[in-house]
Amino acid sequence: MSSAFKISVTKMDFGVGEELTRKVYDVVIIGGGPAGMSAAIYAARYGLDTIIITEEVGGQVAKAGWVENYLGYTRIMGPDLVSKFEEHVKYYNVPIVIDSVENVELNGDLFRVYTVNGDEYTGRAVIIAVGEKKRKLNVPGEDKFNGRGVSYCAPCDAPLFKDKVVAVVGGGDSAASAALLLTEYARKVYLIHRRNQLRAQKYYQDLLLRNPKIEIIWNTVVKELQGDKVLRKAILQRVDTNETFELQIDGLFVEIGAEPPVELFRRIGLELSQDGYIKVNHLMETSVPGIFAAGDCVDLTPRDFRQIIVAAGQGALAAYSAYNYIIRKFGFNRK
Ligand code: NAP
Repeated sequence: MSSAFKISVTKMDFGVGEELTRKVYDVVIIGGGPAGMSAAIYAARYGLDTIIITEEVGGQVAKAGWVENYLGYTRIMGPDLVSKFEEHVKYYNVPIVIDSVENVELNGDLFRVYTVNGDEYTGRAVIIAVGEKKRKLNVPGEDKFNGRGVSYCAPCDAPLFKDKVVAVVGGGDSAASAALLLTEYARKVYLIHRRNQLRAQKYYQDLLLRNPKIEIIWNTVVKELQGDKVLRKAILQRVDTNETFELQIDGLFVEIGAEPPVELFRRIGLELSQDGYIKVNHLMETSVPGIFAAGDCVDLTPRDFRQIIVAAGQGALAAYSAYNYIIRKFGFNRK
């Protein structure tokens, strides 16, 4: 599906020029969400030579609907806030490379950062701010109708469902926010939740329950998605009675949370919490000296308090710690 909101990217998405891979950066930031971009601004202002490598600009915020709790903006769309962040990073001439990091290895005093595109970057310090990856339902039909009715990004795809009937799966803030955004376009919005109580903030719960276009289907899970060329219906099952039933829908938005990329963290050799988040101390230092982490991928952030402002604050702190590490280890005249 096409994106209704455009996010400009600073650098090309493949085949970066040698000038970017040949030099030694002070800080290589992995991840371009609020934590990574905030870290970049602080690092650049410390005079650190900085680069961001990220799979996508903005992370989860680029897929968020209305953001109403980020300081300075009473109400702004997620992708628009990302554009503001990116504009700010560009002001400090920090390159943003679109690529996926496969591994980070210590080579002498420096870190080598390896990407899927086959490029290598060298840094004196590394900040990991990769956030989390959206969970999938893992039901039959989900992949087949991905982009043909199934979506993981309400602000990208909501305008495509004008006057249609859609459903959102999930009971957290993301599902609530997606459902509310969808009411601005769709004729009817179902919210399918596996329990009889929402996890979303009270503020969202009140808006959901008050909205005449939204109908909550409680205690229910999605078993299968069916259609022809496009999605036509979901097969649902009540968890209390096991009864199955069909729901005719044109679109299904999956908003059932996210998980950190544990495999990458294990390859790097970082100490992790039991559920796979990077262990950091109050200075965002990981178990590997010279590697810092911030945002949704760290153990410090409460699981039910993934907030843009928290990620941005941690990113700033990670840059502060990276600066102190670099000055201590390499000195002021390191170039
Ligand atoms: P979340 O809080 O983890 O909620 C995920 C929801 O999906 C839960 O209701 C969960 O059900 C349900 N779920 C999980 N796996 C499922 C499955 N396999 N099938 C069906 N349902 C499933 O995730 P989120 O809503 O994406 O929020 C993530 C974080 O971002 C939170 O900290 C949230 O506060 C934050 N966030 C904040 C804002 C905001 O402040 N404006 C907006 C968006 C997100 P159960 O409830 O039964 O576990």
